[in-house]
Amino acid sequence: MELLRTHNLRKYFPLGQGLFTRRKGVVKAVDGVSLDISSGETLGLVGESGCGKSTLGRTVLRLLEPEQGEIYFDGREISHLGRAELRPLRRQMQIIFQDPYASLNPRMTVKDIVGEPLLIHGMASGKERTARVKELLLEVGLREDALGKYPHEFSGGQRQRVGIARALAVLPKLIVADEPVSALDVSIQAQIVNLLMDLKERYQLSYLFISHDLRIVKHVSDRVAVMYLGRVVELAASQEIYRNPLHPYTEALLSAVPVPDPRRKRERIILKGDVPNPADPPSGCHFHPRCPYRMPHCPDYYPPLFDVGKHLVACWLHY
Ligand code: SF4
Repeated sequence: MELLRTHNLRKYFPLGQGLFTRRKGVVKAVDGVSLDISSGETLGLVGESGCGKSTLGRTVLRLLEPEQGEIYFDGREISHLGRAELRPLRRQMQIIFQDPYASLNPRMTVKDIVGEPLLIHGMASGKERTARVKELLLEVGLREDALGKYPHEFSGGQRQRVGIARALAVLPKLIVADEPVSALDVSIQAQIVNLLMDLKERYQLSYLFISHDLRIVKHVSDRVAVMYLGRVVELAASQEIYRNPLHPYTEALLSAVPVPDPRRKRERIILKGDVPNPADPPSGCHFHPRCPYRMPHCPDYYPPLFDVGKHLVACWLHY
């Protein structure tokens, strides 16, 4: 069953005009994204930094206001709802941030941090709230004695566990996990990823899992969407996209991921240049200056997402 759907979602940021900057215009951080997530599904969202992944994650939750387009959550159009109407829905849509230290109030104890959403949404108070917070701490692998501690008393991995407990407290249906392990040591990353996967089963969660680490995304995702300069350029089932990437950008990204089978070798594709300035994206297909398969018409026309069976892909090679 479909839980979240966006249609032609756009989020633009105006370019600042100051005393020394006379530039006008907008950065099209999210530029016409249509995707969906089913109940219990994990959709991985990958792309280089600056491609609009985090902005998309925040916009679907209405933490950022969309410029255009629609967001449907649990069958209801939520893109134009006011604050009061959104409030009960916020409980069902939570976010886990990349940097747990920056997202936890350093002056609050864990008991208050994890218990705060329960108060805000009127789900528990007093002893019942404390009991629920204890339960949540155990669920995420922390001990009861964490209750009275402050964020600085924990390691990075433990702080992320606190952030997960806070998101989980209100029994959400959807969690946007925005680079949830990229600030952590490699040795801790697998523990947090496994915890998120266990909780998904236990709580029937859906995730929008944002990461630049394709190995982790492969491990956790049912389907994967690849973003480049504000647009989705490929979307397919996880196994399918890793086995047979169709967009040249996806192919290049995946060529850098080690293959576990030593008999199979993948030739690494080195992309020319950096990600272009999103305030001034290349004409036509935004990927054309870096694309090894560029055709004469690619700089003139942006390819829509073509449905080619198991993939949606925005590339004229698949027209
Ligand atoms: Fe490359 Fe053209 Fe496809 Fe863009 S549309 S990815 S430039 S082949």
